[in-house]
Amino acid sequence: MREVADSWRAWDRQHCWHPFTQHAEWSRKGEELILVRGEGPWLFDDKGRRYFDGNSSIWTNIHGHRHPRLDEALGAQLGEVAHTSFLGFGNPRASELARRLTDFFPPSSLERVFFSDDGSTAVEVAVKMAIQFRQQTDEPERRGFIAFENAYHGDTMGAASLGGVSRFIDRFRSFGFPTTRVASVEDLRSLAAEEISRTAAVVLEPLIQGVNEMRPWPPGQLAEIRSWCDEQGLHLILDEVMTGFGRTGTMFACQQESVLPDFLCLAKGLTGGYLPLAATLTTGPVFEAFLGERERTFYYGHSYTANQLGCAVALASLDVFEEERVLEGLPARVEALVQGLKAIVHPSVHEVRHRGLIAGIELRQESGERFPEGEHMGERVCLAARVHGLLTRPIRDTIVMMPPLCSTAEEITGACEALGAALGEG
Ligand SMILES: *Cc1c(COP(=O)(O)O)cnc(C)c1O
Repeated sequence: MREVADSWRAWDRQHCWHPFTQHAEWSRKGEELILVRGEGPWLFDDKGRRYFDGNSSIWTNIHGHRHPRLDEALGAQLGEVAHTSFLGFGNPRASELARRLTDFFPPSSLERVFFSDDGSTAVEVAVKMAIQFRQQTDEPERRGFIAFENAYHGDTMGAASLGGVSRFIDRFRSFGFPTTRVASVEDLRSLAAEEISRTAAVVLEPLIQGVNEMRPWPPGQLAEIRSWCDEQGLHLILDEVMTGFGRTGTMFACQQESVLPDFLCLAKGLTGGYLPLAATLTTGPVFEAFLGERERTFYYGHSYTANQLGCAVALASLDVFEEERVLEGLPARVEALVQGLKAIVHPSVHEVRHRGLIAGIELRQESGERFPEGEHMGERVCLAARVHGLLTRPIRDTIVMMPPLCSTAEEITGACEALGAALGEG
């Protein structure tokens, strides 16, 4: 076993290229973790060490790893077929899943589901639909987007062009969709009419921005943006790739302000964190604008669109939400997270931000200034946390705590204690 594990490390170093990773540093950082197994909110490395999955395996996991119900659904689907093309064919799991997803919303609202693979593609689909919609409804000049500062909508080119994190997008800026960036509702209201007349849609992460160091929006803002979009005749694209599936306390974040978008982008938690699958939900009027001549077709799709395994496990995940009354169980878990983070008393804790089971703990110098970037304070604290059995990743110096929804209050408290202990050493 030990020798095999050494090979995994060696082959990783020789052949793998990790996302968002500076490999010149990667190999200097010492031994990387090789994760081999999971159970509930716990992960195990090749040496048998156990870690709490503090960021839900990069914001994806919902009901824990190896959930019997999800495993069983995958096994059953494997007994039928793993994948069939959705180009020209239907499949039972995709039909069922489309039905179940649209059932979360009032009849005749978000009634169409376009499947793809990831959060980025869910957004990519929405932006392309939004533009083509305008072309086919005699408003071709509406070809731009309004997005928020420091927003993150994924890494494919269309999705990335809506993003506001300069490190990710600046070098590709000239390739993307025309995007106007705003910071607030006030900014929206002060946009020139000319600017608005060139815009197809407003896009945002509702209730809380993720990659922007877990920054919640002021309450009521989402509803305000919705009514502003209605006044201006603009579509609203909500990117619920992170916030969807219970993470903020309700099934979808938009439900907290009774807002219905024209496009709803779902991915990460859709399969409970098991498989890559995404969905872009939209309305009847949008769908209808694509009917008619062949040229009106939405020419878009991926090989694994509506993958049957992905849809099967997504259906099982929705079943678990009902069977285990997951949403009802959230308030106690949120309380454990809030109290657990409150109990961390350390001069570097500048601010704790949270919405539901999504939290960011921002570290700063005692003076209130940020730590110099080169100190990699967030990274160092997360490395220290590993020793205490907690796995998570920072966004710069904001430590993410986003436990799987299945975590018990005790497990969440324990994870907060582990973070506190790691900070004490940092
Ligand atoms: C992660 C994320 C994306 C991108 O999803 P991928 O599956 O990584 O492509 C888009 N939007 C938000 C809000 C996200 O958190």
